[in-house]
Amino acid sequence: MFDLKSLVRPNIWALKPYSSARDEYSGKEAHTFLDANESPYNNPYNRYPDPLQRELKQQIAVLKEIRPEQIFLGNGSDEAIDLVFRIFCTPGRDNVVSIEPSYGMYEVCADINNIECRKVLLNSRFDIESERLLEVCNERTKVIFLCTPNNPTGNTLNSGEIKNILDRFNGIVVIDEAYGEFSDQPLWRNEINRYPNLIVLNTLSKAWASAGIRLGMAFAQVDIIALFNKVKYPYNINILTQQKAKDILNRRLDIEDWIKQTKNERLSLMYAVNELDICEQVFPSEANFFLARFKNANSVYDYLVNQGIIVRNRSQVKLCDECLRITIGSPQENTALLSALRQFK
Ligand code: PMP
Repeated sequence: MFDLKSLVRPNIWALKPYSSARDEYSGKEAHTFLDANESPYNNPYNRYPDPLQRELKQQIAVLKEIRPEQIFLGNGSDEAIDLVFRIFCTPGRDNVVSIEPSYGMYEVCADINNIECRKVLLNSRFDIESERLLEVCNERTKVIFLCTPNNPTGNTLNSGEIKNILDRFNGIVVIDEAYGEFSDQPLWRNEINRYPNLIVLNTLSKAWASAGIRLGMAFAQVDIIALFNKVKYPYNINILTQQKAKDILNRRLDIEDWIKQTKNERLSLMYAVNELDICEQVFPSEANFFLARFKNANSVYDYLVNQGIIVRNRSQVKLCDECLRITIGSPQENTALLSALRQFK
């Protein structure tokens, strides 16, 4: 049985959160704000932002077909990942399970919070086997982190295996869908009402082309989102980010176009890299990057750096021997990469 209270750190469950001036005021139209020790000058930046980002969440709610109370917004999805540890995991006592290889911040946040991170190697197809993940869990396992499409491998994880984990694990399951927009698979975001233990992460940093403004999202049932709101910094999303996020969310057609172009470029770049003599294998991808195995990844990487082209060297990562991770850029950037690779000796 899933029991949220038993999963939450007792001090967090009991926490009386900070109540900001703008939290306490709500209701009637007001015109004179003398409650928050703000300056009367330099409007609008003199004012604290909305602590719950209500307008922005309304817009996201419509777009993602999720109720505003089921949305947490953070300073990148990295903030949401860190909050998961601070809400659910007691330092020095609890543990989390994650897959390997995957996005590095799950383990870094575990280390920062002094939480053991039990890593389960993916199989040779870079996929999960749910039984192996469930096997390493014990009564102190609070969270399982999954990432689909996975970084750095680029593939989506088997949905039957994920379902098995959601059904059988009584702790929290975080599914990081940072690259979901580039995939043709059904999104886990649409399943949050079915699973009380599911948290899905999205971000504006990838398909929405806004890594610089730092806006990440967590979607879950209302009681979990209420815990995020309790623990987060009161004004964690600044006015400039809220404004820029609203602007980019209004450009949905541009975004769809950019996603389409990225997927087209992905197809042709992967094909062309696969044709190179120096390339051993290109792995399937449903993200805006792909993993490729080279005959000598380090020398290809160094050569590209000398040409002013930076890719990600993943050759030291488990299961990724001799692999580089290549982000899909603009057509010009991709051409520059290809012509450099074709001249590599
Ligand atoms: N999740 C995954 C899988 C990522 O690859 C990244 C960034 N590389 C993030 C989350 C971080 O996203 P954000 O910019 O929203 O913090």
